[in-house]
Amino acid sequence: MNKIALFPGSFDPITIGHTNIIERALPLFEKIIVGIGNNQQKSYLFDIKQRRKWIQDIYKNYDKVTVKDYTGMTIHYCKEIGAQYLLRGIRTTADFEFEKTMAQLNQSMNADIETIIILSKPEYSHISSTIVREIIMNDGDPSQFLPDSVSKTLSIQ
Ligand code: ADP
Repeated sequence: MNKIALFPGSFDPITIGHTNIIERALPLFEKIIVGIGNNQQKSYLFDIKQRRKWIQDIYKNYDKVTVKDYTGMTIHYCKEIGAQYLLRGIRTTADFEFEKTMAQLNQSMNADIETIIILSKPEYSHISSTIVREIIMNDGDPSQFLPDSVSKTLSIQ
């Protein structure tokens, strides 16, 4: 059976912290689906089209990586697309507590789906989409935290 992982998140925007997790997960799976959560209740800095396009551009030469957006529960979406694994990253103990709760919840709701967690590299553990958005909203330059193609389209290089 093909090992398919869903890497869910807001990716508002995608950072080099996210791309490092995907890069390190590539040897573990046959397919990684980057699932962009699109929650009507949540407000995003970048719309779904933009968030999707950035990720599609980054992985256009990677057969293993596809990008989809979804609404509703992540665990339901895994079932819909046939993903047996949920991929997540951890930077801090706060992330650990959150991810532990989510993984245990998801496991109790669907025991067939296993959460695989990859620890952030130390040099990426301070990087988050939230910090990047703060920098952008205050007219700063977040390019060191972003894939080149993302910084280019933000015209901040
Ligand atoms: P969410 O909106 O669900 O918090 P994000 O888009 O912020 O999702 O992140 C998706 C996943 O990537 C989460 O598991 C998050 O912990 C992980 N992640 C984000 N930034 C980093 C980073 N710098 N290093 C490792 N993992 C990260």
